[in-house]
Amino acid sequence: VVTVKVSKVTKTFRKGKTPVEVLKGVDLVIERGACMGILGPSGTGKTTLMRIIAGLEVPTSGDVYFDDKLVSTSNRIVVPPERRNIGMVFQSWALYPNMKAYDNIAFAVKNRKGEELRKKIEEIAEVLDIKKVLDRYPRELSGGQQQRVALARALAKDPSLLVLDEPFSNLDARIRDSARALVKKVQKEFGVTAIVVSHDPADIFSVADVAGVLLDGNFAQVGSPIELYDSPVSARVARLVGEINELDGQVEGGKLKVLNGTVEVKGLDEGEVKVGMRPEDLKVSEDQVPGMVSLGKVRVKVSSYTGSSFRLVVSPIEDDRVELYVNSDRPMDINSIALLYVRPEKVKIFRK
Ligand code: ADP
Ligand code: MG
Repeated sequence: VVTVKVSKVTKTFRKGKTPVEVLKGVDLVIERGACMGILGPSGTGKTTLMRIIAGLEVPTSGDVYFDDKLVSTSNRIVVPPERRNIGMVFQSWALYPNMKAYDNIAFAVKNRKGEELRKKIEEIAEVLDIKKVLDRYPRELSGGQQQRVALARALAKDPSLLVLDEPFSNLDARIRDSARALVKKVQKEFGVTAIVVSHDPADIFSVADVAGVLLDGNFAQVGSPIELYDSPVSARVARLVGEINELDGQVEGGKLKVLNGTVEVKGLDEGEVKVGMRPEDLKVSEDQVPGMVSLGKVRVKVSSYTGSSFRLVVSPIEDDRVELYVNSDRPMDINSIALLYVRPEKVKIFRK
């Protein structure tokens, strides 16, 4: 089990004649036994960064260390991938179709043989609940079982590092939650350092202790899932980690004016700002709501049932073009007029 350190890593690809810098000096430390999540839109270089850590791709510049050992440096692989002892699971689990589940797992293990190998595989299969399907071929397994066999294969060689690149995106929504919980459980149980990469914040939030948001070739923010969700450093980060309403606002005399409301804020520069409010931090009500601040009258345009709650779309009565999403525990009549409230401590303010 290792600490992974990525220092000032850049990667430039050539697209025809034009060089494109995909990674622009990435710094990252993943502590021994921690589970790091990397979130970013498609095409931001997440897979490229994983391939550099795994030694499958060479950095254009910068260094990668496993503990204190240099494994990659500018244009050079110092320790080859097969000697980095990494267990990897990719989006396509790529099990060998002509091998039974057991052999798919055993094939990856070089350091064990015979009875010792069998014991190891059975131990992992027990944790992942695939003991009964070890003698089946991949085509005889469900998607969830295939994913667990791929995970078992990655774990069977006692990896120093587990790399999971979009491991849940091929799973049905129905089993995705249990797959996430399982990954978290085995990562903690085996105590292995892990990196989970996804474009879906739910994947990252459910398994990672710490997460980084990769944007434009660099980490825009690194923090706990709660920090990223509650205190995003920019509107782009806020948008990537969850749904958010974005409005224009003004800070005057230490107070934020947004819509027809005034919210107390601390330590902010005066002037025009962008304001972010998550749908669950808003409420539409005819009455006063204790602890919440009124933003003025709104008209309900849409009220739809989402299975567990209601989703409203509302507009300030004086400006129909502004629309806000509100999560509500009850439906509202279309065109009804009520007051919009916000939880003031949850209001996010970004520089324009
Ligand atoms: P992500 O995993 O975040 O979706 P990738 O790391 O796969 O992003 O890709 C980042 C960018 O680098 C993309 O624009 C992709 O086209 C480009 N890219 C990745 N690998 C190569 C390669 N081998 N040659 C040229 N361009 C590449
Ligand atoms: Mg990718």
